[in-house]
Amino acid sequence: MTRPGHRPADDLRALLAVTVDALDAGRRDRSGPLPSGGPVDVRKAVLAALGEPGPLLPPTGDGEAAALGALTRMLSAGSADPADPLCAAHLHCPPLTVAVAADLAVSALNPSLDSWDQAPAGTTIEAEVLAALAGLVGYDPSRAVGTVTTGGTESNLMGLLLGGHVAGRAAAPAPGSTAVSPRGWLGQLPHHRRHGARTPAPRPAAAAALPVFCSAAGHHSVRRGAELLGLRRIVPVGVDVDHRMDVQALRSALARHPGPALVVATAGTTDAGAIDPLAEIAELVRAHPAPVWLHVDAAHGGGALFSRRLAERLAGLAQADSVALDLHKLGWQPAPAGIFLTPSERGWDRLDAEVAYLNPADETIAGYTSLLGRSLRTTRRPDAFKIAVTFRALGRERLGAMVDTCHDLARHAARVVAADPRLELAAPVTLSTVLFRYLPPEPGEYLPPEPGEYLPPEPGEHPPDTGGGAPEHAGVPPLSGHAGRLDRLDRLNAAIRSRLLEEGTAVVGRTTAGPHGAVHLKLTLLNPNATDADVSALLALVAETGDQLAAERTP
Ligand SMILES: *Cc1c(COP(=O)(O)O)cnc(C)c1O
Repeated sequence: MTRPGHRPADDLRALLAVTVDALDAGRRDRSGPLPSGGPVDVRKAVLAALGEPGPLLPPTGDGEAAALGALTRMLSAGSADPADPLCAAHLHCPPLTVAVAADLAVSALNPSLDSWDQAPAGTTIEAEVLAALAGLVGYDPSRAVGTVTTGGTESNLMGLLLGGHVAGRAAAPAPGSTAVSPRGWLGQLPHHRRHGARTPAPRPAAAAALPVFCSAAGHHSVRRGAELLGLRRIVPVGVDVDHRMDVQALRSALARHPGPALVVATAGTTDAGAIDPLAEIAELVRAHPAPVWLHVDAAHGGGALFSRRLAERLAGLAQADSVALDLHKLGWQPAPAGIFLTPSERGWDRLDAEVAYLNPADETIAGYTSLLGRSLRTTRRPDAFKIAVTFRALGRERLGAMVDTCHDLARHAARVVAADPRLELAAPVTLSTVLFRYLPPEPGEYLPPEPGEYLPPEPGEHPPDTGGGAPEHAGVPPLSGHAGRLDRLDRLNAAIRSRLLEEGTAVVGRTTAGPHGAVHLKLTLLNPNATDADVSALLALVAETGDQLAAERTP
């Protein structure tokens, strides 16, 4: 907002200089990938910068430059910096500076995609970015439909929403419905002709009965999305030793459910980076006697599509009925930059909405496109813009080379782990994730935790959450999480991560793996500016911290 006589560009330029300087100062305050001292110290510093003990919203403010400078410095100092090579826990990428700058342009203009008159250029930019990504996936870009989302969570929800709509319609055609074909004709009609010819959503009872098959290594958002949509029959499918969906298990599970269904496959599991055998899964789905919607969660692995070396690992992706991608992971975008794509219009009538103030039919027909029917959201910023700028700036070759570099770093890490007797690899490297754990020299000698150390409940104290309700849940462990007691080795691995977090020296991930859900450590290497030497140093730090902790606790 501007005052009379002020030039907003000059104001922005001045405030940008304040921001960039404060980002740098905060980074120097931190001197590592993470603020040291753990949650208590960080909270103190944040509250002080927010004006404690005064109110956060004071009667009179401090002025723009002062508040922006102080709080940005605090944020920078108090952040986990994904640009630091020792920050390697999550699918949390260092964003490209050009994408950050492009994102700022969007913030300055504040367009919104729910009506053409709020985003005249943004509307076309989103369509073109989606067409380019559809081409990478292997869809026909002239027929594919999609939307830019807040991430894999929203994209998975969209896949379940559209898939549940289409499969649910096949399970229980609404009375009087003309949509007899599961591969319906609605998708062939232009948007405006569908008005008045809508197929009602399936009755809730039919949707609740639809099974959703998802591997035990699938993302937690699949289960949550299904539950939100009333899809209560979630059928976990087993995985093989490499964390990939077991095709034989899916075949048997599908054989027990001859009706319409949804299958969610994963291209790049969050913990191991494993890619399900997509082509074989697509073949099974096609051979099923009733319609099955195949959604592929490629939020992690979709970035491999940029790489000529790795793209073939996603063979079969183009046969999916819907796909989730996440360019704020292996795409180096500031979040959010989620993508949801389908090969055609099929299923999208579920989101049809004609709203008098946003998209009257006559304006839509005249070419004033509203993207309201593409999203669960109304106000929606064109996050496609930073992606468009990135694509034009770097091209596929440079993006592919960045993916390859991260893959090379992970392969280097796996070699280092294999060569160190104190470290044990838990999964092969597929993308850029390395799952491993520390093994003390004498595991039997390792003592119980220090007082105050975090310990999950003993078995029986709290029954593990099995999801409840559906018969398939009985006796099946939750998709992720550790329901049992931590043994000594688990405590030691957990303590390595906590020690590094508290010191602020490194951020390594933690999860469970193996048949007994043992605590493991994880490197997610998304920083293409990191080197093999950085990765070696990080693993040496982990092993040395393990040695120290084991020694401290062994008399
Ligand atoms: C990260 C991730 C998600 C969730 O994506 P968000 O962008 O965090 O919402 C879903 N699935 C997989 C496999 C992921 O790795």
